[in-house]
Amino acid sequence: MEFERILIRYGELSTKGKNRKQFVARLAANVRRVVKDMPDITVYGERDRMQLFLNGAPVQPVLDRLKSIFGIQSFSPVIKTALDVEEVKEAAFQLVNDTHQPGGTFKVAARRGYRDFPLDSNELNQEIGAAVLRRIPDLAVNVKQPDIKLNVEVRADGVFLSSQIIQGAGGLPVSSSGKAMLMLSGGIDSPVAGYLAMKRGVEVEAVHFHSPPYTSEQAKQKAIDLTRKIAKYSGQIQMHVVPFTEIQEMIKKQIPEGYVMTVTRRLMLQITEELRKKRNGLAIVNGESLGQVASQTLESMIAINDVTTTPIIRPVVTMDKNEIIDIAKSIDTFELSIQPFEDCCTIFTPASPKTKPKLDKVKYYESFIDFSSLIEKALQKVETFSVDVTQEQTIKDEFKDLF
Ligand code: ATP
Ligand code: MG
Repeated sequence: MEFERILIRYGELSTKGKNRKQFVARLAANVRRVVKDMPDITVYGERDRMQLFLNGAPVQPVLDRLKSIFGIQSFSPVIKTALDVEEVKEAAFQLVNDTHQPGGTFKVAARRGYRDFPLDSNELNQEIGAAVLRRIPDLAVNVKQPDIKLNVEVRADGVFLSSQIIQGAGGLPVSSSGKAMLMLSGGIDSPVAGYLAMKRGVEVEAVHFHSPPYTSEQAKQKAIDLTRKIAKYSGQIQMHVVPFTEIQEMIKKQIPEGYVMTVTRRLMLQITEELRKKRNGLAIVNGESLGQVASQTLESMIAINDVTTTPIIRPVVTMDKNEIIDIAKSIDTFELSIQPFEDCCTIFTPASPKTKPKLDKVKYYESFIDFSSLIEKALQKVETFSVDVTQEQTIKDEFKDLF
């Protein structure tokens, strides 16, 4: 059985009045991006629905990938036949046969948009229904609540049949709400935070801090792999890996132990802020969750947040750890996140950071150190590359002239 196209229904974007055109164009671009390794596929975003033409490409991998595209309410693979009743019956049988459970029910919902077709919709319903029932004996008709509703649409260019409505991911098309920098560690929370921001249409670029040789190559690879997991929802994510060793060594040497954590976070945020400006982002997303660890208190947020006025989005801030873990499992990041590769904070952070750091003290301690040149140096050495769902290996872009 060969599907010809996939019909894609829009979700929330239908309500977005005059922005609709842009939303549709954005969604179409996101869909094209996840199937760009299948060059035969073409995608047309129309006002009320989107059509994806397979042109011979296999349907199953496309269906799998569409499930993770935000802005899609549901979608259906569609068979096309010639304007020939026998062909229609055969296709109808195959579709129902493929999806039906023993003892199940079905109904045919035919629509004749092309008036020259010899059968009208009632006749189509009856003929097709009878033909299918004859060949699948344990199937019954139920017009009110069928298990399978077989849609048949007769148009001038052919007859279109579909029996499946697959639930989409909902949300808004990624990037329709602008771009933000996602501070991505190797932990459980930040990939979930990134996913939730993307679900509301935010395009994210990942920023990861590493401190070789204190942190391993595997820790960096883990961050890249986590980024690839959430790249599934947009097709691709730009990633920036920031060398953080010198800054952390300086902090460790010069800052009183109780304040190491706060100052480290402030430096990360300042660097992320610089990257945001260069990349024209509008916000910063992180995985902070209130009260989860001693450092994630409101007092701590005041002290850290002080380095920027850019909006900081904290999608998981009010969630319980278990709620975050449930999402991490559902997006398949959990197993990766719990792999034991130390990240840069764990190594340098003292066992008991101040839970209520004082901003004036933080500023006082920082005032003895010239962090700005260290920040500049770190920015010079940022590695930027794109992490792509359709590639196993990460492709390094030439971003040398970025800074
Ligand atoms: P996560 O599970 O996301 O690692 P966490 O509970 O371990 O979070 P913290 O270590 O306090 O929390 O980090 C708080 C947030 O700071 C993280 O969610 C992330 O957004 C950011 N962050 C921490 N470490 C890094 C890093 N090495 N690179 C980029 N961002 C980081
Ligand atoms: Mg962490």
